[in-house]
Amino acid sequence: MLRADAVPAQTLRERLLHAGLLIETGVEGVYGHSAAFETVLAGCNAYAGRMGAADGAEVLRFPPLLNRTVAERNRYAAAFPQLGGHVFSFDGDDDDHQRYVGKLLRGEDCSCELTMTRSVLTPAACYPVYPALAARGPLPAGGCVIDVLGECFRHEPSAETARLQSFRMREYIYLGDAGRALAFRDLWMERSAGLLRDLDLPGELAVAHDPFFGRLGARLADAQVDRKLKMELVIPIGPDARPTACMSFNCHLDHFASIWDLTQADGTVAHTACVGFGLERLTLALFSRHGLAVAAWPAGLRGALGL
Ligand code: ATP
Ligand code: ZN
Ligand code: MG
Repeated sequence: MLRADAVPAQTLRERLLHAGLLIETGVEGVYGHSAAFETVLAGCNAYAGRMGAADGAEVLRFPPLLNRTVAERNRYAAAFPQLGGHVFSFDGDDDDHQRYVGKLLRGEDCSCELTMTRSVLTPAACYPVYPALAARGPLPAGGCVIDVLGECFRHEPSAETARLQSFRMREYIYLGDAGRALAFRDLWMERSAGLLRDLDLPGELAVAHDPFFGRLGARLADAQVDRKLKMELVIPIGPDARPTACMSFNCHLDHFASIWDLTQADGTVAHTACVGFGLERLTLALFSRHGLAVAAWPAGLRGALGL
């Protein structure tokens, strides 16, 4: 049940904008945020950190740009061509420059005046981890857990308040043996019940699949669902809104490890699993359920968020 003072779905986006918590940029799913929004988001991030504290994860941080060859080796364009974002820049001479600026001034398409750079926008916070760990050599005995937080981009423009093109993802990634990878994923699904309790959010675990592109993609999605490789913690954002994934629990089997030659201490191929928090979505879920005035939120909730 939503609290009586919860923000109605149809007005959530408008009320967040009106309160200045979200700042319109003119691009769907791309928002600025107020200090209050950022404080709650930081509280969600800190809460995620406490959830994972017992695992002794190694902290790594990467920028919002990913080496293009990493996305290519992960076959991102084969699976999700619709979501990717490449960085293009100008790389011409004076004549090219004049033509480019002329097209801009006339409002013409100038995309062919730009050249692909070596970077793409990071689509998932865990992507830079696999090559970085593979470069170290075999994994330690028992595997390891990595903690990342990063800005992610997905080209999925939408009017839905919680479907953003630019958002922050906190992730924990296990790299090691198959049994422990599965256990890690299952442990985090258990832990998520505590998050719902502490943050007083309605939600449930659901079987999910990635939005693989096209006809072939539908088969990949079916296989993922059959094997329950992707689970989500879905929380309604606004009373009428569809439950939205605020956390994901992913078993990759040896998918990334095979691509990156990630081996265990005994030389066999590793398995990996990751758990991801959508920090904007968790923050939006909190405003949706508890109202826009953080000072009026229950003391226990503010305590859990360190507010
Ligand atoms: P969805 O099914 O809603 O598209 P997803 O399956 O694509 O989500 P993941 O790829 O598992 O999500 O990403 C990890 C987490 O990042 C998600 O659980 C969600 O909280 C967040 N996330 C994913 N896509 C978006 C988005 N477009 N806007 C905001 N947060 C997102
Ligand atoms: Zn991941
Ligand atoms: Mg998605």
